[in-house]
Amino acid sequence: MNDHDRNDLFIGGRWVAPRSGATADVIEAATEKVLGRTAMASNADIDDAVSAARTALSGPWSTLTNAERADLLDRFAAALKSRGRDTSRLVSRENGMPIALSNGVNGFGPAAMISYYAGLIRDASNEDVRPSMFGGRTVVRREPVGVVAAITPWNYPQPLAAMKLAPALAAGCAVVLKPAPETALDAFVYADAAVDAGLPDGVINIVPAGRDEGAYLVQHSGIDKVAFTGSTAAGRAIGEVCGRLLRPVTLELGGKSAAIVTERADLDVFTKNLLAVSLVNNGQTCHASTRILAPRSRYDEIVDAVTETVRSLTVGDPLDKGTDIGPLVSDAQRERVLDYIESGRADGYRITTGGGVPAAQPQGWFVEPTVFADVDNSAPIAQEEIFGPVLTITAYDGEDDAVAIANDSIYGLGGTVWTTDEEHGLDLAARIHSGTVGVNYYELGVEAPFGGVKASGLGRELGPEGLSPYYTSKSVYFGTQ
Ligand code: NAD
Repeated sequence: MNDHDRNDLFIGGRWVAPRSGATADVIEAATEKVLGRTAMASNADIDDAVSAARTALSGPWSTLTNAERADLLDRFAAALKSRGRDTSRLVSRENGMPIALSNGVNGFGPAAMISYYAGLIRDASNEDVRPSMFGGRTVVRREPVGVVAAITPWNYPQPLAAMKLAPALAAGCAVVLKPAPETALDAFVYADAAVDAGLPDGVINIVPAGRDEGAYLVQHSGIDKVAFTGSTAAGRAIGEVCGRLLRPVTLELGGKSAAIVTERADLDVFTKNLLAVSLVNNGQTCHASTRILAPRSRYDEIVDAVTETVRSLTVGDPLDKGTDIGPLVSDAQRERVLDYIESGRADGYRITTGGGVPAAQPQGWFVEPTVFADVDNSAPIAQEEIFGPVLTITAYDGEDDAVAIANDSIYGLGGTVWTTDEEHGLDLAARIHSGTVGVNYYELGVEAPFGGVKASGLGRELGPEGLSPYYTSKSVYFGTQ
């Protein structure tokens, strides 16, 4: 038994052994050693979790006022926040995320999101009365959509769960959370905090499992809405099922975003932000601006600046505050990234730094931060999501060309524009076909909707827009008699 072991699932407010007895090892990305063991749910456990969530919906949870629910959510947020330091370290050990980033996104982010949604509902009414065109009135009620299946990946496990849990709970839904097996251990922190905060039994259920059980959960007859973050391939499969079942679904999927560095860019600002915008979380970030588009007039200068910046990054232990780039989440992920580097090399593109496994890190799933220059935007390394520390640089001739290249992608999730003139930045941002764009910066805030267009997904999370999918509306008509 190890300190990190989680041998039970969390269902109906209780810790229960998985019916099949199945467990899986969670491996530490930097050491390749077992970090802890997680219980793994089978379909029978998923049935139990869905049933517990349905029961919760007809219990005391459903009779709370918005203000009472907001109080509970604030307690839940406080319980998460008090664990933030440990949670950040745990996630960094699971998936290799540099601790400086993890402290923010895993330690602080979920509590901030939950408090934000508590604030949105606290004084809100779930009813409004509208005069009817026939002289009577209509009462429009907001009601919780029901039981939510929340399915999350391993790259930002805590905030991606919070982006679903927080609005779902604020709306009065109950949730079955199926985290990815690679980062299952940290998901149970939500159970610990729910118990501390006194959330009613069954409002949150946590069932780590693989893809097949995830697919079983999506089509389960007890589910009213699916909220998924993960790959485009899985998102398409889930979208097809939900389409057939006419089941509401939110899909946050892959990306391959562009950084348009304009003639008017301040290169110091660009390079200072490059890690945060393009290589954040070791490149395992859906919205990262991994395609750098450079005007031909400044091309060499930009290639040199990007190369120097990337070469100077500190690769190492994710638990060290000075680390910029940690290991990738798994051996399979590293192989995938190294295969892409080989494909870029085989296609004849110029590697200006990196290109393999760092000699100083023989253990752990590290990949050198790598830059390819002179890349044609049609190349697989420019079109496909690599999900590792690999950037491409492509030249453009004029801003129409830059916008056309940025939009020449199946994805549309993020993107950045680099210019000293903010109006110019906003004009260019408007021309990028994508759900989000940053100007000289990129950071998701809880107050604004996040999500993609095209193969990057359907629907939005965060902001007030992220709350409405968890409600359904009911119109009650009154005549004049
Ligand atoms: P993945 O799609 O393989 O797995 C994600 C989760 O879905 C896991 O919990 C997995 O078990 C489950 N799953 C997989 N197939 C399923 C199916 N058919 N039915 C139900 N559940 C299923 O993705 P991954 O490789 O773990 O994560 C990386 C991907 O996630 C990248 O493509 C990345 O861009 C994307 N991502 C998107 C966002 C966003 O907000 N748009 C954020 C983070 C990651």
